[in-house]
Amino acid sequence: MNAEAQRGSFADALAVFGEVKEREPMARHTSLRIGGPADYLVTPRSVRTVPGLLACARALGTPVTVVGNGTNLLVRDGGIEGVVIRLARCTAINPIGPDTLVAESGVPFPRLVRDAARRGLTGLEFAAGIPGTVGGAVRMNAGAHGGQLSDSLECVDMVTMDGDLITLPVERLGLGYRTSALPDGIVLSAVFSLRAGDEQEIRRVTEENLAYRERTQPILTPNAGSFFKNPPGDYAARLIEAAGCKEWEQGDAVVSGRHANFIVNVGKARASDVMILVERVRQRVQEHAGVTLEMEVKVIGRDPIREDKHHEQ
Ligand SMILES: Cc1cc2nc3c(=O)[nH]c(=O)nc-3n(C[C@H](O)[C@H](O)[C@H](O)COP(=O)(O)OP(=O)(O)OC[C@H]3O[C@@H](n4cnc5c(N)ncnc54)[C@H](O)[C@@H]3O)c2cc1C
Repeated sequence: MNAEAQRGSFADALAVFGEVKEREPMARHTSLRIGGPADYLVTPRSVRTVPGLLACARALGTPVTVVGNGTNLLVRDGGIEGVVIRLARCTAINPIGPDTLVAESGVPFPRLVRDAARRGLTGLEFAAGIPGTVGGAVRMNAGAHGGQLSDSLECVDMVTMDGDLITLPVERLGLGYRTSALPDGIVLSAVFSLRAGDEQEIRRVTEENLAYRERTQPILTPNAGSFFKNPPGDYAARLIEAAGCKEWEQGDAVVSGRHANFIVNVGKARASDVMILVERVRQRVQEHAGVTLEMEVKVIGRDPIREDKHHEQ
């Protein structure tokens, strides 16, 4: 079978589980608007098809990557090998008790925050404006304004890469500051334990948190939120600004003048531009403050095939 025919038969096998796009630019699926093509981007029809999809990918011998809304991702310019799974159709939210909601992994977090507010449930106001999905928020233990996901998460349903369906309580997820120790697999849904609150007050706090973001973050220019984690006892943005890196540029990648811990794409920035800028900033902060900044944004994917290598074949 030639390569074209093999790709076609891979795509047909995967299409049993949902929509398949071949060589889909990941720049369309990341908030930085950067990223080369995924070999196969699969959007499962429902959470029930995910275990079968994983088994199929395993049988085809192709690697699997899961993404949410791509709001904490830098996808390299060579794209992503194999199957990329995006749970954008798995978006149900259901109450399973007076103060408890279960949300599928593809639910946009801002929608969950609004849904909880409408039901008069408090506990998620901190997350107003975090633009990822429930799955991405679990993986990152997303947080803001002194709150984090682990404060209200009860448990998650996952499918491991080996195909086992498991339920894990929050204590078994290894959640810390923008980190987790989940088993290798895909979060299918999450259960949030909230509290009855005053709807007006929930809305007031939510609006206040959103307004703060609008004032302090460059939300209208493509970005991936905070690029670096805050080191213990300090703020990455303060260190970057103090080191004089604000508005540094590399191609179309720029250290935001509004919030120094944001790198923005002001045009056609490539992942390689961002990575060079990241290294320049880290080196300068290291020299200036003696602190090594750790990236919060996850870098995934492959480097582009070099032209000269291409000609060698
Ligand atoms: C303007 C802006 C503001 C932001 N503000 C904040 C903030 O205040 N606080 C904060 O914490 N973050 C913030 N972020 C970062 C980002 O929104 C969060 O990290 C978010 O939780 C990522 O969710 P996502 O769905 O976009 O995940 P992605 O970026 O797509 O993926 C992130 C990681 O999660 C994994 N993942 C995604 N879905 C699943 C799943 N179903 N199962 C297993 N793993 C999965 C991916 O493999 C990847 O490792 C901000 C981003 C932007 C652009």
